[in-house]
Amino acid sequence: MSHRQTLRQFYETLYAAYGPQHWWPADSPTEVVIGAILTQNTAWTNVERAIRNLRQRGALCWSTLREMPAAERAELIRPSGTFRVKARRLKAFVDHLWTHHAGSLESLLGGNLDTARRELLSIDGIGPETADAILLYAANRPTFVVDAYTKRVLRRHHLIDATADYETIRRLFHDSLPCDVPMFNEYHALLVEVGKRHCKSKAECEGCPLQHFAHDAAAWRSAAETPNRGRSTRRPSPKRYAPAQREAPLSRTPRRTS
Ligand code: SF4
Repeated sequence: MSHRQTLRQFYETLYAAYGPQHWWPADSPTEVVIGAILTQNTAWTNVERAIRNLRQRGALCWSTLREMPAAERAELIRPSGTFRVKARRLKAFVDHLWTHHAGSLESLLGGNLDTARRELLSIDGIGPETADAILLYAANRPTFVVDAYTKRVLRRHHLIDATADYETIRRLFHDSLPCDVPMFNEYHALLVEVGKRHCKSKAECEGCPLQHFAHDAAAWRSAAETPNRGRSTRRPSPKRYAPAQREAPLSRTPRRTS
């Protein structure tokens, strides 16, 4: 079976097993972006506490975040960990938004996808995973999000080797799947789900929906590569992503919402 066929069958199998995941857990594109920045290297429960603080302060909007004192911004997001760094990253994002797009997320995330992605990557603290999460979940743009769970599952199933980098893996999905936002949205969430339930540092293949596909559960040996060094093992269990219901979508109407 080709990698392309395998990836498609993975999706069908995981979707049949787990159903729709309804990502991302946010009330608006702005909240998706803030959550994507805050979730770097921390548990989602901590992000939720920070988001709650921001909401209570009325700071889930860029103008308020931009105008508030740096110390207050940092204090509000303290529960998300490394809060001074993340406060700087939020400020860098909002400064960029104001300087180059007059505060408009739609302007930043709309237009040519590659251009928008490159621009996001130029902002301090925005790496490929965060950029793709923002584009996919805040703006409904067709870009696949690769996280540590994705790498682990693919590696254990011999779809990538240990040296495969982010862009190689992202390209594999783009080349194998239809350019389909709802599928990219769902597939990433499903990979996180199977990672949380089964494909842990020590794989629990028994009962895993993917157990009948050829795999090597011991293929992920290096502690340096385990997802729990990053954010992914502590990803949310998102159940309320519905941007079109609560805030106008950034650039296009989602074809499907939760
Ligand atoms: S737990 Fe086992 S069967 Fe499931 S995805 Fe990981 S390696 Fe594959």
